[in-house]
Amino acid sequence: MTAELTRLGASALAEAIASGQSSAEEVTRAHLDRIEAVDEAVHAFLHVSTESALDQARAVDRARALGDAPVSRLAGVPLALKDIVVQAGVPATAGSKILEGWIPPYDATVTRRLVEAGVVILGKTNLDEFAMGSSTENSAYGPTRNPWDLSRIPGGSGGGSAAALAAFEAPLAIGTDTGGSIRQPAAVTGTVGTKPTYGGVSRYGVIALASSLDQVGPCARTVLDTALLHEVIAGHDPLDSTSIPQPVPLVVDAVRRGQADGVAGMRIGVVSQLRGKGYQAGVLESFDAAVATLAAAGADIVEVDCPHFEYALAAYYLILPSECSSNLARFDAMRYGLRVGDDGTASAEEVMSRTRGAGFGAEVKRRIILGTYALSAGYYDAYYGSAQKVRTLIKQDFEKAFTAADVLVSPASPVTAFAIGEKVNDPLAMYLNDLATIPGSLAGIPAMSVPSGIASDTGLPVGLQIMGPALGEERIYRVAAAFESAYVAAHHRSVPDAAPELEVGVR
Ligand code: GLN
Repeated sequence: MTAELTRLGASALAEAIASGQSSAEEVTRAHLDRIEAVDEAVHAFLHVSTESALDQARAVDRARALGDAPVSRLAGVPLALKDIVVQAGVPATAGSKILEGWIPPYDATVTRRLVEAGVVILGKTNLDEFAMGSSTENSAYGPTRNPWDLSRIPGGSGGGSAAALAAFEAPLAIGTDTGGSIRQPAAVTGTVGTKPTYGGVSRYGVIALASSLDQVGPCARTVLDTALLHEVIAGHDPLDSTSIPQPVPLVVDAVRRGQADGVAGMRIGVVSQLRGKGYQAGVLESFDAAVATLAAAGADIVEVDCPHFEYALAAYYLILPSECSSNLARFDAMRYGLRVGDDGTASAEEVMSRTRGAGFGAEVKRRIILGTYALSAGYYDAYYGSAQKVRTLIKQDFEKAFTAADVLVSPASPVTAFAIGEKVNDPLAMYLNDLATIPGSLAGIPAMSVPSGIASDTGLPVGLQIMGPALGEERIYRVAAAFESAYVAAHHRSVPDAAPELEVGVR
């Protein structure tokens, strides 16, 4: 029975808890047992909060027994939290040695909203150091493994959250997406993940990477579960100055609409620049089949041209290092975590330099140096300034595209999960994994990845990216739900077929 509970999605678990068929404690224990059984192999978690998770679950059960009004639609459902979002009293590392031992004294707004909704936080998930990477190999605590094939990467930077979903260790997860860190891991693990419109979810209490790009978002195994989580975490927050003063998008209704009415009459744009060079054959084959599925479901397929996307990666890898070089200056050996070489004679500057030398990994150092250089006097206009101009051109490409189409689609990742070790020493090869996700990040628009089947050349999951105009969350969820329903109907199976290796091996 308990093993079966971990196979259920968030909405089914919430129903089982609400009807009294299962208790929140039982559901939480089942997931903690599953973590115990498989996480040594998967390494999705950096920290498991066994006691506080069980306490939270019991509180939900008590409230239900007392007949208190149901806290929320997800009360009692467990969740995996990316270890870049802080939770009071629980260690936060952001995947870095420099934060080792730091225990945040406060909750991020997202954490607070989850707790208030009765969502049970199982623990903190692994990520590339400070969310820089596309494979989770840049974590200072060792890589996470893809449950579909343990010799492969689960994507990044939020590989821990995505792997936890695919390995049935949690039915819900939180990610952050600056250049694709929710969507690309979702794609390569056969799960669902959404990057909301910039400012749609509070960044308060989220360790900053690049503040003009960072977005928190919901992850799950189905579109409906993702939508339910989206509504819990979204909404205006006065503690985040870039938070949008808008009501929470009604994405759950949009999902129901997509399931009932499909996409008939909607214009779906295929971005020519996001389906050519650099994309694996099996990914393109799956993508074309997905477009055919949407056409068969009644959508009008149009081809759209976004000529400046070609420069997106270059612009992003100037803007992101610039912003992160400034954000990461706060890790100065005085305020948080690690302190190296404080022998009583060393100056503050020496301690800072030793701590940063020992505490940051190679990719983080690379980006701090690049960013500091790009922002330095005399170079600002040539690098950061030009990159910002490219960013505007990309936004304009999107604006034009959204006059011809209601949503845009592309593969979410140009390739399926690659082998651990394959690209880790080649930063450029690693950056190319973000080819499809970065334009949407630069424009601040909402975008999600939904499973679109298995690539015939590698036998691994492929994700379909669906992008909408700013605040167009309801549209992308509608299309995602319609696609998911059509996909399930065509394949007579649930999405995703997760983790074959774990079925026979660890499970
Ligand atoms: N892979 C991208 C990078 O390394 C995206 C990171 C992210 O979205 N956090 O910057």
